[in-house]
Amino acid sequence: MPETLEQSAGRFDTVLIANRGEIAVRIQRACRELGLKTVAICSEADRQAPYGKTADSFLCIGPSTAAKSYLNQDAILLAARLAGAGAIHPGYGFLSENAAFADAVEKAGLVFIGPTASSIAIMGDKISAKRAMMAAGVPCVPGPDTALPDDPATIERIALEIGYPVIIKAAGGGGGRGMRVVPKADVLHEAIALTREEARKAFGSRSLYMEKFLEHPRHIEIQVICDDHGNAVWLGHRDCSMQRRHQKVVEEAPAPGIAPDIIQPVGLACVQACLQIGYRGVGTFEFLYEDGAFYFIEMNTRLQVEHPVTEMTSGVDIVQAQIRAAQGHVLDLIQGDVTCEGHSFECRINAEDPETFLPSAGVVTHLALPAGPGIRVDTHIHAGYKVSPYYDSLIAKLIVHAPTRAEAMARMREALAGTEVEGISTNIPFLRALFEDGAFAQGETDIHYLEQWLKLRRAA
Ligand code: ADP
Repeated sequence: MPETLEQSAGRFDTVLIANRGEIAVRIQRACRELGLKTVAICSEADRQAPYGKTADSFLCIGPSTAAKSYLNQDAILLAARLAGAGAIHPGYGFLSENAAFADAVEKAGLVFIGPTASSIAIMGDKISAKRAMMAAGVPCVPGPDTALPDDPATIERIALEIGYPVIIKAAGGGGGRGMRVVPKADVLHEAIALTREEARKAFGSRSLYMEKFLEHPRHIEIQVICDDHGNAVWLGHRDCSMQRRHQKVVEEAPAPGIAPDIIQPVGLACVQACLQIGYRGVGTFEFLYEDGAFYFIEMNTRLQVEHPVTEMTSGVDIVQAQIRAAQGHVLDLIQGDVTCEGHSFECRINAEDPETFLPSAGVVTHLALPAGPGIRVDTHIHAGYKVSPYYDSLIAKLIVHAPTRAEAMARMREALAGTEVEGISTNIPFLRALFEDGAFAQGETDIHYLEQWLKLRRAA
């Protein structure tokens, strides 16, 4: 007889964490608290990683280049088999949104801690994601939910219907790449040709789509958790408008100044969309918000870097909930139980020059981390740790929680003052200055604010 979902609940006791850095530490903690054994993996550059020492098994799976280690699917599956893992947690980045990997994990008889390969594939293509969201009643940016044709006259007509400025986006784009703003008709065809070529080279698909370019939006996102039994909840919202080159720098929850009656229907539509596509695990719906309206831009089918701000306000351990959903457990939360309290900020501490933003590798010679009520630090580094040039420059996340936004800002100032990293350059001086800024303190700044602020600072 086939097993029921309840019988299969708890169907693994060892998790391989297919990632590195702070998120490897974060996931390992969640596993241990759930009574699960952990397998850490590393590349040659990460042999000294502290989470290797605290894992039940630690395996080096390849050379320092990510393509040969953290992105090497066969090596990761072999490590899982050797260490006796029953599940793989992909973290964020690397293979976390790779549908073929999710499929290979399941085919190997292991559990992929994330949604099904087909959910990842639908959401990984921005056109099919938009189509699925429109069908579920999620508000989207004006523009068709189909790929642009090759015919120049039809393309011109679509742009006119949307109204300039428009944005051309690669269906397979990600990481802020594969997008081009078109302010007016005379540069439309050139922009299409350039973006098509870029998309073909970078994402292996020339498929493009067009939508309205919103000029002063904020980036607001909604966190969801779903189980395999048809239950889903949303855990409030986050504001991630503080971006440099489309990369988030500071995040906060809740998004300031958003009235509950405006966000409520959007959250419910996200939950509805999850139920319609049979979504499992954690995910994030990203929206642009302008003049009181929300516009869906994409869904991230994985744990996100900024998940802690929602954990701080909702009190839900998102990583544990994600693992329990993958084990087949029924979600132990209903929407009515979700209450978000206080305000939380997260600063991404990067190993980079605070003026030029160039990555800075080397040995951390001195490290002091802040402590106290409402302060959390997610990191893998320690004094003596060697920051490698091979990977993302994120070395720590500083997270605070306080009853109000103003108090949370004050707490972050204090936390940043108590953070000392020597031996390498970090963006801490830049973050300290940002938390002194008057407009940021007021809240509701748009996605262009940080770049403008940096320009003014450079000119001063
Ligand atoms: P990626 O997958 O590369 O992160 P997104 O679709 O999430 O791409 O967009 C990244 C960023 O690009 C957004 O946070 C926003 O700053 C900008 N952006 C995307 N679409 C639009 C749009 N229609 N209007 C204005 N800005 C946009």
